[in-house]
Amino acid sequence: MSRVYNFSAGPSVMPEEVMKIAQNEFLDFKGIGSSVIEISHRSKDFVAVAQEAEQDLRDLLKVPDNYKVLFMQGGGRGQFAAVPMNLLVGSNKADYITTGNWSKDAFKEAQKYGDVAEIKADYRDEENKIRVNTDFKIRDDVDYVYYCANETVCGVELFDLPKVGDKMLISDVSSEFLSKPMDVSKFGLVYAGAQKNVAPAGLTIAIVRDDLIGRAMKCCPSIFDYKILADKDSMFNTPPTFCWYMAGLVFKWLKQLGGLEAMEKINIEKSAYLYDFLDSCDFYNTLVAKEFRSRMNVPFFLKDEALNDKFLAEAKANGLTTLKGHRVLGGMRASIYNAMPMAGVRALVEFMDKFAKENA
Ligand SMILES: *Cc1c(COP(=O)(O)O)cnc(C)c1O
Repeated sequence: MSRVYNFSAGPSVMPEEVMKIAQNEFLDFKGIGSSVIEISHRSKDFVAVAQEAEQDLRDLLKVPDNYKVLFMQGGGRGQFAAVPMNLLVGSNKADYITTGNWSKDAFKEAQKYGDVAEIKADYRDEENKIRVNTDFKIRDDVDYVYYCANETVCGVELFDLPKVGDKMLISDVSSEFLSKPMDVSKFGLVYAGAQKNVAPAGLTIAIVRDDLIGRAMKCCPSIFDYKILADKDSMFNTPPTFCWYMAGLVFKWLKQLGGLEAMEKINIEKSAYLYDFLDSCDFYNTLVAKEFRSRMNVPFFLKDEALNDKFLAEAKANGLTTLKGHRVLGGMRASIYNAMPMAGVRALVEFMDKFAKENA
């Protein structure tokens, strides 16, 4: 069977080159006679994989030396709890800028741990498009300000950092991680669930500034305590070795491509191609105001929603899958992460154009 263009929001498409490398060395990893998933995480062969992956990630993101890179489990939602348990420990206050489903859920979870306030920043403009209010009022004595850089469900991406004065910023970058360069030094901590843009599900990467490590609440489970993870090189408990290995292959793939500047260029091109088509075609509606349109997740709607099932069935027949929108939003969503080639976006636009003409 041939591979389709898969627009899944997560777990999502992986680079074909990476999948082939993994396939080729799956049974016998570098001549050791075992698979990389069959060996101890403490063996020298796996430790080499782990260290190389971390170094490649540091190179890609130019992670400053005073930040630790942690390879964790528990997903994005695990960090919804880990962040407050580790960082809500001064005034016990934090402000959460909410711009969609994921930041709202993070806010709800954090409320369990302290005095957490919501700054609802998304709204609908006069054309009924989602916009984000960037004029925030932050409380004086908060431990941190939290936001989500790219809202995966509604496709809202913030291209500028929220203006929070001297307050510490924490960001959930799950669905835009490694899609473009990022200045890690502007954050106390960023984290990303790997299953969107990096690796199979099961790995969460957190990048934490040194001085924030070692302050966790007593109630914080050891596996979520950044200090324990940092002290043990993310091997306090058995890490998700397969995901870590796959992430390492993806980091190498990104380096070979020219790094995150090159990746960003491609992502700008891909997303512009799709949004330009959507703007030019009366048959479809978009959801988000131009300045906040995600380069990774592109929600769109057929003006005649009665055609949704037909659209999805014909798309699938044309090798274009997982375009159905998130259940809370309906409509369609095309996730076009790093691993989606331009050819996939072209094929999608070609199909959508044909479908519009045939059903107008
Ligand atoms: C998918 C996602 C999450 C949740 O990740 P899980 O690993 O399923 O817990 C959190 N935040 C963002 C932005 C996401 O896209």
